[in-house]
Amino acid sequence: MPTAGLSPSRAKDFSRCPLLFRLRAIDKLPEPRTYAQLKGILTHTVLEQLFRLPPAERTVEQAISMVRPAVDDAVPPDDELVQLVAQAGGVEKLVDDVSGLVRTDFDLEDPRRLTPQALELWVQATIGGRRGAPTMKVRGYIDRLDVAPGTGALRIVDYKTGKAPGPSHNYEALFQLRCYALALWRSDGTVPAMLQLLYLAGGAVRREEPNVAGLERTEARLLALWSGIVRCARTGEWPAAPGPLCPWCYFKPRCPAFGGAAPLPPPDLLERLGLEEEE
Ligand code: SF4
Repeated sequence: MPTAGLSPSRAKDFSRCPLLFRLRAIDKLPEPRTYAQLKGILTHTVLEQLFRLPPAERTVEQAISMVRPAVDDAVPPDDELVQLVAQAGGVEKLVDDVSGLVRTDFDLEDPRRLTPQALELWVQATIGGRRGAPTMKVRGYIDRLDVAPGTGALRIVDYKTGKAPGPSHNYEALFQLRCYALALWRSDGTVPAMLQLLYLAGGAVRREEPNVAGLERTEARLLALWSGIVRCARTGEWPAAPGPLCPWCYFKPRCPAFGGAAPLPPPDLLERLGLEEEE
């Protein structure tokens, strides 16, 4: 049976719209890949490869030389992505776009001076369970976990290939990294010293120093979201919650809020969520 758990992205989906969460996280309906996602994946790939090199080799020239091979690997000639890339302007534009994002990383930090402890690190921890409350797992991949030589202080780093949000959205933007910090803290008691988002389209940085009180608030928020998910699963009601992001929702044509008909939930929905049938 799968383990009950949430990544920060799926937690945000549920906060935004319970039906979107069900279709994406439980029904797992396929969604077409986008050019923006492809750029994001390639940028992450190149930066991961760069940080696996010895520090002295992490130059901007080295990084840019890695873009073309990464593109060739990700978009083989017979792949369905070829059409997507062609519609967006072609392979050369993709190489240019990714190179630009990678270059911006060098405007924001000097990769030769950093010490990653881990790259693409899978973190997972069980939270909840106090005073009879349900438990769940929080999980996800950390792009890069830096360690400060000497002090051993940890910094969670995440690359964003979209534009930085406005000041009123900064707190929400860091929710993902607070979840990762919570997972680290609940796994081995370490509270990272810093959370850092690097916005590579435009070049902006958002930082926060986490603390135990803040991580406990993130834990409470996740547990409340999980309770909401369990309630929807038990009642079979997954309401559509229209909002400003609906125009970009792939499921809009099937959404009851816009005159569509949502597919029936899968018969093993509870099992997919890691929940037992109620007696
Ligand atoms: S279109 Fe809007 S309301 Fe409908 S499923 Fe998507 S996010 Fe939810």
